Amino acid sequence: MRLLTFKKGVHIPDHKSKTNQCAIVDTPPAETYVFSLGQNGGAPCTPLVNKGDRVLRGQKIADSEALISAPIHSSVSGEVVAIEPRLTNKGMQTCIVVKNDFLDETVPSMKEQGNSPKTAEEIIKIVHEAGIIGLGGAGFPTHIKLAPPKDKVITDVIVNAAECEPYLTSDHRVLLEETDDVIRGLLLVMQVFGLHTGGHIAIEENKPDAIALMRKQVPDGIAVDILKKKYPQGSEKHLIYAVTGREVPTGGLPADAGVVVINADTAASISRAVYEHRPVLERVVTVAGGAVNQPGNYRTRVGAPLSSVIEAAGGFSEEPAKLILGGPMMGVTIPSVDMPATKTTSGLLAFTAAEAEPPVHSHCIRCGRCASLCPMNLLPLELDKKENLGDWDACKELHILSCIECGCCTYICPAGRRIVESIRRAKTEIRAQGRRNG
Ligand code: SF4
Ligand code: SF4
Repeated sequence: MRLLTFKKGVHIPDHKSKTNQCAIVDTPPAETYVFSLGQNGGAPCTPLVNKGDRVLRGQKIADSEALISAPIHSSVSGEVVAIEPRLTNKGMQTCIVVKNDFLDETVPSMKEQGNSPKTAEEIIKIVHEAGIIGLGGAGFPTHIKLAPPKDKVITDVIVNAAECEPYLTSDHRVLLEETDDVIRGLLLVMQVFGLHTGGHIAIEENKPDAIALMRKQVPDGIAVDILKKKYPQGSEKHLIYAVTGREVPTGGLPADAGVVVINADTAASISRAVYEHRPVLERVVTVAGGAVNQPGNYRTRVGAPLSSVIEAAGGFSEEPAKLILGGPMMGVTIPSVDMPATKTTSGLLAFTAAEAEPPVHSHCIRCGRCASLCPMNLLPLELDKKENLGDWDACKELHILSCIECGCCTYICPAGRRIVESIRRAKTEIRAQGRRNG
């Protein structure tokens, strides 16, 4: 079996065995839903509703005129009880708060059968209106990906089903349980680019059941590519290299290599939007970690409190020492589950004190391991040092903005240097400087 891969990266335990065989379970409805206006990548949305309005399930409640943004829809029917700042995974953000009336009254269009769209423009418009974004975590609006500059010739479309982050198995379950939707979504994206061949479903070798199922189901023109289990295999640039052998130039986009990459759940959402008129209203969240009673994969509505997802997972078995949204490598640490699920909530990890124990933090011993494994060929030790000195010019010269924040350097460092945290701080400062200087 030929395994596709990229240069450098790390081999890490995947910790997926507790949830990868857990079928998706629906979480019970909650009393209140909170929709963050800044949950999509790009410009935040503006509310289209006011306090006191009644909204339906599937109704567009916020949108933006900005080129890079995507609308937000209510996942329940009920009353808008507030539009106010609330704590989210991105800090305090303005949110629309809807009190659920438990009637699940949906917008009429969601009850109609969708038609097969004929043109690329029709598909892109549906994807935009449905609020589809990169559901793997990045949150970049998908309709922008489907309309690259005219001079870019797209020859390949890759469904990113690497799911290389430890613990996460939500995409794995989507591949197994929503197989047809994933394939139909990929075919629609291929249709956008007029492709009859060049479709790929790229899956890491640790999902043999999904590989076998997809191989049985895919039509001609789509290859099922098996990826070596290595982190960060799901990073777009590294995935493109593994599958096509092409390199995305520094500062470039996948379209520069003739490729469009979409996440597996995003592909399924495209199919549902086109054929069922369904916007993004829910997603699958892997709940895992030693502090959870019933680790598994839970389908939750966007806007539901994370506490309701934990409740569906049997609650905490002990007070978690650390909570992470997303995976342990690239996810964000959150203070509590008193915040809403968003379209990009792929995982919710609750670690015990033993699991969360931070490594000892000491001086760099200049072993060079971080540089030898950095998949972007950067010098993490130097970036860490320059950030500590506040030398932003040196950070820029060391190409800090090319860092994909994969965390390989932090993972491998024997001195426990929190390198990726330094890098994030420096990038935030450099971008703020750029805004200040116009
Ligand atoms: S420097 Fe950035 S890209 Fe390189 S290993 Fe560290 S986090 Fe990953
Ligand atoms: S891995 Fe850690 S100790 Fe080794 S060179 Fe990099 S920062 Fe220094």
